[in-house]
Amino acid sequence: MARFIFVTGGVVSSLGKGIASASLGALLQARGYKVLLRKLEPYINVDPGTMNPFQHGEVFVTEDGAETDLDLGHYERFTGVNTTCFDAISTGRIYSDVIANERRGDYLGATVQVIPHVTDAIKGAILKNTGEVDFAICEIGGTVGDIEGLPFLEAIRQLRNDLGYRNSLYVHLTLVPYIPTAGELKTKPTQHSVQELQSKGIQPDILLCRSDRPIGVEERRKLALFCNVKPECVIEALDVATIYQVPISYHEQGLDSEVCKHFGLEAKTAPDLAIWERIVETVTRPEGDVTIGVVGKYTGLLDAYKSLHQALIHGGIANKVNVNIEWIDADQLENGSKVALMERLSPLHGILVPGGFGERGSRGKIAAIQYAREHKIPYFGVCFGLQMAVLEALRNMGGFADANSSEFGSTSMPAIALMTEWIKGDIVQKYFPGEDLGGTMRLGTYECHLTPGSKAYEIYKSSVISERHRHRYEVNTTYLKELEKCGLYVVGTTADGLLPEIAERKDHPWFVAVQFHPEFKSRPFKPHPLFTSFIEAAINQNRLI
Ligand code: GLN
Repeated sequence: MARFIFVTGGVVSSLGKGIASASLGALLQARGYKVLLRKLEPYINVDPGTMNPFQHGEVFVTEDGAETDLDLGHYERFTGVNTTCFDAISTGRIYSDVIANERRGDYLGATVQVIPHVTDAIKGAILKNTGEVDFAICEIGGTVGDIEGLPFLEAIRQLRNDLGYRNSLYVHLTLVPYIPTAGELKTKPTQHSVQELQSKGIQPDILLCRSDRPIGVEERRKLALFCNVKPECVIEALDVATIYQVPISYHEQGLDSEVCKHFGLEAKTAPDLAIWERIVETVTRPEGDVTIGVVGKYTGLLDAYKSLHQALIHGGIANKVNVNIEWIDADQLENGSKVALMERLSPLHGILVPGGFGERGSRGKIAAIQYAREHKIPYFGVCFGLQMAVLEALRNMGGFADANSSEFGSTSMPAIALMTEWIKGDIVQKYFPGEDLGGTMRLGTYECHLTPGSKAYEIYKSSVISERHRHRYEVNTTYLKELEKCGLYVVGTTADGLLPEIAERKDHPWFVAVQFHPEFKSRPFKPHPLFTSFIEAAINQNRLI
């Protein structure tokens, strides 16, 4: 049976609970254990699919097509274990299940209450499909004290009784801030947050204390005493140069051995952290530098491009270079002068237009693509970045000023159009405009067939690949001939040949645009081939400049 580790957070948000959970997963894996990571999200949305990226950051898409929290991306990047729809559990999802059960009469007329009905549903979701792993690490979103989080805390409190002390562990991530005027690290916020947790019946077993400087013996003693944990279970979580150093740093602080001790497991041999050491070495001592411009709409909040950012770093790891990213606001390119555009784009070694929604900023993105095409700067289009490359070609080279995406309104030349029906496996998926916005996209993994001899084929070294999707609109095959006349060739399609998946230019050193999101499958220890190749092309460009 799986052992359960519950990770809660206190004091403030954004302490990196996701990375902490993922790193613990990586450490247990490095000791030879099989792990699974799961996120319990207190918000009431059923999934984050319709949430504003400015507020919530990226929507991460799993293989099976679930739209989830960006922390699932950390889990996959640190452990290489693909998450599933069962690994993202929100209050909204729990309540919709409970209400559906009630409507069906499953509760046999009982008064439906938070305890036990909602908490039972949460416990059921936590325990589901965990039979095959040694450890299930469950991160509770938000901060202890949030009203929305209460049913989740109650559920994990109950689980200790259900599972037993030796099969469950509570890890609490907190902040130990340094107050310059006092010249001291302060333990009080952690004490208060642990008290809050204790008032809900949860006694943390391990404290992970985020701090910008080492925590002294005295503060450690205080934290242990007031928070009722063993001194060796007060683990320092210092700021590190790269997130990929976190597993190493936690190991040095004894996190994995304390976890093993709690579960009564032998922790005599050290975990094998060679892959992490190699990654940290490459990231911290690169052999060169390249600068990539990412032209998007959500550049004000970098969390909105979390996986993409990491995939670019992974491309850098594969090529032993540091990737500087210039986040460029598409709106500014759209509204600025030609000279300003030149100034912004000419120092770049590569240009990437990422996924996006809506018309705002699209002209700026198209202008950036035109610049990349004309100046032979490597261009990588991701999802919306493919759609905009199609519009760029048709408008600027084909003379079709009206070429447009039906996402932006009705048009006489819908070069990017809504597909009302397409095939996935044996199931015909339908989309009915006007229905709920949640869950109406082409989501998750689809197979793509590549044309032998194309750049994409050369990069993947395979004729059949599979990648994750999240979009409503598609390149309209009606205009493929016109596109070819503009030099843009479709070299990858869905298995049935119906939907274009990849387009590239033959008249350009590196111009590849894809309908899917390759960034979701990139790992630091297994960089995605498209990102590796794009960064390599950017390095070559750097040599030209
Ligand atoms: N807005 C586009 C669509 O829905 C692209 C989506 C994306 O880039 N993820 O098709």
